[in-house]
Amino acid sequence: MGIIVQKFGGTSVGSVERIRNTVNRIIEEKNKGNKVVVVVSAMGKTTDQLVSLADELSSYPAKREMDMLLSTGEQVTISLVAMALIDKGYEAVSYTGWQAGIVTEAVHTNARILDIHPEKIRSHLDKGQIVIVAGFQGVTEDGEITTLGRGGSDTTAVALAAALHADRCSIFTDVTGVFTSDPRYIPNARQLQAISYDEMLELANLGAGVLHARAVEFAKNYAVPLEVCSSLERVAGTMIEEEAAVEKNLIVRGVAFEDAITRVTIFGLENGFHNLSTIFTTLAEHHIDVDIIIQNQTADGRTYLSFSIKNQDLKETVDLLETNKTSLGIDHFETETGLAKVSIIGSGMVSNPGVAAKMFQVLAENGVAIKMISTSEIKVSTVVDDKEMIRAAQSLHHAFELDAAEQKI
Ligand code: ADP
Ligand code: ASP
Ligand code: MG
Repeated sequence: MGIIVQKFGGTSVGSVERIRNTVNRIIEEKNKGNKVVVVVSAMGKTTDQLVSLADELSSYPAKREMDMLLSTGEQVTISLVAMALIDKGYEAVSYTGWQAGIVTEAVHTNARILDIHPEKIRSHLDKGQIVIVAGFQGVTEDGEITTLGRGGSDTTAVALAAALHADRCSIFTDVTGVFTSDPRYIPNARQLQAISYDEMLELANLGAGVLHARAVEFAKNYAVPLEVCSSLERVAGTMIEEEAAVEKNLIVRGVAFEDAITRVTIFGLENGFHNLSTIFTTLAEHHIDVDIIIQNQTADGRTYLSFSIKNQDLKETVDLLETNKTSLGIDHFETETGLAKVSIIGSGMVSNPGVAAKMFQVLAENGVAIKMISTSEIKVSTVVDDKEMIRAAQSLHHAFELDAAEQKI
């Protein structure tokens, strides 16, 4: 008898019909003789609707209250799923994040899980009960409700799987697995049988919303066997594992993209040892995620600095830079919105020089101007105009031979 964690995303619980289907998948796993923990998201587009409500009432919704609001979405689903299971004659119990012992840092709307106390869940499992846990939420040591960032239910599931030493964590969603790129926008994308933790982590970090990046981090750190599969179609999903056993011949394994990126450029920065660290420490203290950073010098010896952030952090970043202009040694700064990031990812890049050059050539041939670049051993990211994002991703997908028709294996 094993412990299995199943996670069902918004679409998979988006209607009464879908909940019935989900309940059948849970029962199937239970009937195999397993102990089953289920993590669910809010129904359908509930979280988006709650965010819109908040935006209508406040131009800058208080983050604590946002967590209070958004955490209600998942609470609806857990109770409905538990009721439906009980109705079918199974013993089930629903738990919010705090009841399930999910402790997070004290950061509203984007908290990290610090610790999990799974004793209660374990005692239910030992009694043969199915435990349904609300995804995306936790509690601080002071008893404040937090949420884990959009898409965070995946992280709840994998963290619980790690804490319970589960035999498998299955993420059920509306696609059949992890694809070479988002199949909603890249019709030629094809499904991968397996992908390594590191490649998946880059894909997720760079915009592939199929998995929350922190979920992949947990899976890697605690060696959780993780799969992504469809809640509707009965086909094999994608395994995320230590070393992807297949498709080693591919240098680039996937193309990821995300819009809503802003570039901030600070001009006339005085050359001082501490300016850079002070600026980024200030941003970090306010939990603003800075992505690509470029620093350069003008002929008169002044430094200028560009960095990219998400649009959602723009207002806070501008406020911080304005307020602390003098102490940060800033002359003036500009922001440019309407940008997107397009990235290629693949562990084969390490040993294949010229991948970045090929990427830049493909983008140039397609008339896509590059505004910022960042590279690591297994990825190259470019910031481009958001109107060109899909075209850029499509041409890269084709040029790096990822299109379904060009499958090499
Ligand atoms: P859920 O509500 O089940 O968590 P999400 O919408 O968060 O579902 O994630 C699934 C979606 O991720 C898919 O519908 C797909 O459009 C998108 N996606 C982005 N990149 C990829 C990728 N590389 N492979 C598969 N799906 C992807
Ligand atoms: N309901 C949350 C969201 O829409 C969390 C999740 O679905 O994972 O982002
Ligand atoms: Mg998701």
